[in-house]
Amino acid sequence: MTNPSPLNRDDAGASPLPVIPAQLRAVLNGIPAMVGYWDSGLRSRLANDAYCEWFGLEAQQLNGMHVRDVLGDVAFEATLPLIERVLAGEAQRFERSLVDAAGKPRFTEVTYTPDARDGAVQGYFVVVTDVTERVLADRRRQRDMDQYRALARSVPGVFVLLFDAELRYLIAEGQELETFGYRTEELEGRLIQDVLKGDLASELEPRYRAALAGKEVSWSRQIGHRTYRLKAGPVYSDDGAEAAAATGMVVAVDVTERLQQQQVWEALHEIATAVARNAAPTDISERVAAIVRELFNVDSAAVVRFTGASSAEIVAMAPALPPTLSRRHIFTPNDESATVRVALTGKPALVVYGPEGGPAAEQMRAGGFQSAAAAPVRVRGSLWGVVTLTSKSSTGVTEAMMERLAQFAELVEIAIGNTEARTDLELQATTDALSGLPNRRALELHLSEQIALAGSRGTHLSAVVLDIDHFKRVNDTHGHLTGDVVLAAVAARLRAVARAEEIVARFGGEEFVWLLPGTDGAEALRAAERAREAIASEPFGDVGFLTISAGVCEQRDAAAGSLLDCADRALYEAKNAGRNRTSRYGHATPAGQEQARPGAEGHTG
Ligand code: GH3
Ligand code: MG
Ligand code: MG
Repeated sequence: MTNPSPLNRDDAGASPLPVIPAQLRAVLNGIPAMVGYWDSGLRSRLANDAYCEWFGLEAQQLNGMHVRDVLGDVAFEATLPLIERVLAGEAQRFERSLVDAAGKPRFTEVTYTPDARDGAVQGYFVVVTDVTERVLADRRRQRDMDQYRALARSVPGVFVLLFDAELRYLIAEGQELETFGYRTEELEGRLIQDVLKGDLASELEPRYRAALAGKEVSWSRQIGHRTYRLKAGPVYSDDGAEAAAATGMVVAVDVTERLQQQQVWEALHEIATAVARNAAPTDISERVAAIVRELFNVDSAAVVRFTGASSAEIVAMAPALPPTLSRRHIFTPNDESATVRVALTGKPALVVYGPEGGPAAEQMRAGGFQSAAAAPVRVRGSLWGVVTLTSKSSTGVTEAMMERLAQFAELVEIAIGNTEARTDLELQATTDALSGLPNRRALELHLSEQIALAGSRGTHLSAVVLDIDHFKRVNDTHGHLTGDVVLAAVAARLRAVARAEEIVARFGGEEFVWLLPGTDGAEALRAAERAREAIASEPFGDVGFLTISAGVCEQRDAAAGSLLDCADRALYEAKNAGRNRTSRYGHATPAGQEQARPGAEGHTG
């Protein structure tokens, strides 16, 4: 022994190595790791097949080889300090990455255990565990987590929580986390029951456990004005080896806007349905006001229509307009109200009522309202009115609400425009253009309605049919155009004699029908006489004096035929009896009613 150092292979003892018994070899090969034994002279004394394979050597070749020859100079130099320590009796444990015989990177965990016997270290055991799969999986997981984190951080209105099987947060990340009252560093690495406030942990635990069991659970949470949709679910590792998820994830998303959009569409659908069912414009406006109040969760909402350059009318209000308040408003440009601002600018407006806001603001303040927004409603290109909302709090109406209201108003104006157009058409279809009175079609609708009402309530109903006497002569003498003017003038006089709740319609030609609800035959006769008087008493310009004849019938007397037939028969009697008189069905036509004037005489001949 010229050189006592075992680290120098040149002094390699040529002593023959004992052959490893087959039984021991089998045991060694059963160990799921690479196992070897190096003596204090650093020569291999024992190695299982895995260890041999690792170095690409046959068992017989490896046996007795010096570690420097096995590892190569570079690796040997790097390992030497560890070898020296284990030979000094100190166990070593370290990780090593290598490139295997096939050129692939491998990650290993290595332990050196000293073989201390008879007071000296005789050699050391090496156990090398290949942890390549685990290391790669860890790296993948880390990369996934980094991705979750980056994703959660970058998406607005979102947060992501990742938790392990013990319900410990691994990741808590996202812009929205603070809205829920938490910060990333408070949650990560902590168990839910240690970190969540109040009863939240016990509320969430079943959902988290369900997620770990592979289920997806979702729920909602309202925070202030915002609504969040939360969803918990499993996260499986890429290997897919585990049946149960080792981690679960919660994603919270701010769905306020989406929810609002959905509500708006539902509201519009409701309005569109009402329009399709021919609801009246006021009904549509009532609905719009109610929906706006609910959508925006404000104290009141209204649909206001401009009736002139500086006047407006509240078409509908939610809650209903108190009867003490006037529907009609005259405003001045100085009025500090959202509606007036829209009237002046045509743009959406937001107003916080101040002490010097003019009469409109005064009235609102008196009602306890502090802020309001209004958005224009345009029908066929022109400013029709506004949709408004009002709050009893000065911060109750915000800029964002005003913008939403403007969008809503734009969608609603289609519905309002449609009903307006339809109502115009209906009006055209039921109004006589020449006289402005309801036409025959409208009369028939009114008539059946009034007959039904009188029947159900047991009240009187009378009808008067009026016909201009010798009207043909007016046309013949003065021309058709003058005839038209006279017809309109007669219509106006008749309308002026009738009460508001009574209906005066142009039945056709120079014939009119007057419906008198709640009026019996005798009274209707007197009314008809007043009408006859109204026509006969004043001349019609150049045309001079005219007269009419009238037939009266009460619904109860009309049992045999229709009310109008029976009044018509009475009219026929009046005509036959000499015109310019009134006859009541079933009663003798009074003679001598004629109060012929000289002018009238001239026309009636
Ligand atoms: P009577 O006293 O019997 O009712 O005589 P009359 O001439 O009024 O009756 P008749 O039914 O013979 O004539 C009605 C006339 O009314 C015929 C028609 O020229 C006229 N007339 C009907 N509709 C209009 C209208 O819209 N404009 C004008 N200018 N004349 C009309
Ligand atoms: Mg006539
Ligand atoms: Mg006639």
